[in-house]
Amino acid sequence: MSTVPFDATGASLHGAASTRSHGVARLPAQARLPLPRVLLCDLDGTLIDSMPTLADIATEVIEERYGTPRILARELYLATCGLPFVKQLEEMFPEDERNAAASADFEARKPARCGAIRMAPETRRALEQMRQMGVRIAVSSNNGTDNVDAFARASGFAFDLVLGYGGGLAKGRTHLDATSRQFGAARQEMLFIGDSLHDGEIAEREGIPFVGLATTFSPDRFSLRFPSVPVIRRFSALPSLF
Ligand SMILES: [Mg+2]
Repeated sequence: MSTVPFDATGASLHGAASTRSHGVARLPAQARLPLPRVLLCDLDGTLIDSMPTLADIATEVIEERYGTPRILARELYLATCGLPFVKQLEEMFPEDERNAAASADFEARKPARCGAIRMAPETRRALEQMRQMGVRIAVSSNNGTDNVDAFARASGFAFDLVLGYGGGLAKGRTHLDATSRQFGAARQEMLFIGDSLHDGEIAEREGIPFVGLATTFSPDRFSLRFPSVPVIRRFSALPSLF
């Protein structure tokens, strides 16, 4: 599939999209994306800039529990992000009996360190713009349900649906089924935005449109894995895609 090339500043090299936000890194061939009925937003690294803090906590826990050097621990954490932490540990240390305790440790440290991280004003404005276009706004995160609920309560934004990890729910099929039940929307009427390659893989597997947010991974990493997926550098660029 051909793409409209964008330079490093986000400006179109063809000059065809001069009104677009500078936060757009790469767009597929079509001029505009169809407006979804429901926007599902990942939380960490997408709605809030919590990935550096989460990576710090993960690095500490992995170093303490497994003796892994810090640089490697951080890299492993970031490479596997987008999954619940306990599943990330399973990818790093398959069938290791320390995983459950390490996951509990990580989860216990999170609220005090991440609980005060708020949405940037520009992110909130983008959500408001999407809502004004008639789009329902949901959170779909593999962070624990308690943390995701606490984020939503403190956000000051009235999300239409808030879904975390727990109680049989997780990013992907179970969240999408819950979204369908809530809004009567089909998969193709949804749009998922996330910062991890796992997010893109979930969207691909479940057949829902996806936008990559290049905060944790570079636009090139997204493009190599998902050649036809739009990629933006800032959440605030999202409304300019429609
Ligand atoms: Mg994320």
